[in-house]
Amino acid sequence: MSVKPSGKNDNPSVILQRVGEITIEDRPVPKLVDPHYVKIEIKYTGICGSDAHYYETGCCGSFEVTSPMVLGHESSGVIVEVGSKVKTLKVGDQVACEPGIPSRYSYEYKSGDYNLCPEMAFAATPPYDGTLCRYYLLPEDFCVKLPSNVSLEEGALVEPLSVGVHAGRLANIVFGDTLVVFGAGPVGLLTAGAGYAFGATKVIIIDIVQEKLDFAVKNKLATHSYNSKGKSFDEIKAFVVETLGGKLPTVGIDCTGNKFCIANTIKLLAKKGRYVQVGMGAATLDGFPIAYVAENEILVTGGFRYSVDNYKTSVELIASGKINVKPLITDRFTFEESIKAYQYFKEGKSIKIMISGPE
Ligand SMILES: [Zn+2]
Repeated sequence: MSVKPSGKNDNPSVILQRVGEITIEDRPVPKLVDPHYVKIEIKYTGICGSDAHYYETGCCGSFEVTSPMVLGHESSGVIVEVGSKVKTLKVGDQVACEPGIPSRYSYEYKSGDYNLCPEMAFAATPPYDGTLCRYYLLPEDFCVKLPSNVSLEEGALVEPLSVGVHAGRLANIVFGDTLVVFGAGPVGLLTAGAGYAFGATKVIIIDIVQEKLDFAVKNKLATHSYNSKGKSFDEIKAFVVETLGGKLPTVGIDCTGNKFCIANTIKLLAKKGRYVQVGMGAATLDGFPIAYVAENEILVTGGFRYSVDNYKTSVELIASGKINVKPLITDRFTFEESIKAYQYFKEGKSIKIMISGPE
């Protein structure tokens, strides 16, 4: 389904003024100056936990909002203008927008880990404006064209899916692996789904909210689920061992940032198991099972956002039907209702809230 550019000449933007205060304002339409850039008319934006953190506390991780900032970074849209050196995109193309631009001169960029670039300009991460506006500029190679069987709504879910794809790559998930994921929020669900698509034969997702667990299994993002509410580590482990035919999982990914979940994920792993930390919580941690890591040669790494080709892989996973992201969208708001959408996010009833527009 093709969506036409609006042809409008304004740039309504959803702006976090200060903690707890969001307004919609008309900002200047950005001008295409760099010949390698394209101008995108944003069509859909998903609300992410980080946006809500800034809204509620002004902070997320080590970042702090000190001046008004446009929110949003999970977007898709239609190309409305291309720079003179753009080769792969044309006006009218529908794209998923990768929202973080590294310095092309950094060591991290050159060595293939551009997500770790210290000069990264990431949408809706202070001081950089986000994508919840009408017009947004990106370099051509940070837009991934959506094939005709991937909708713009699905395109906006490429961002959180790419976090899961990146984590799966870091853990080297291959056919025959078994995976345990703690946390069944959008990133946990998509991380489980990506691991399953990469060939993990059994994927166990663990959370304390039964509806989310049922959602994961029903939508084939995980093969098994476990509600750990009030359960001891031994009870969780007994379920995992039984599910895996007497074995322990080869890969564990924490998508909660919670210290108990982190310790449990690691202690569940088989010898030589691979562990990825995706969830963000406290800066330091009590109760980290360091002896278990040493004695079992557990490989521990962090997973931060996404890197080379993760967006492309995500679009391919959706296009090929290996992951169905659509059911994650539980609530829809228009751009004009953005403030309401952020308030609704706080109630914690949704999996993914999608904002359409501006019209
Ligand atoms: Zn996000």
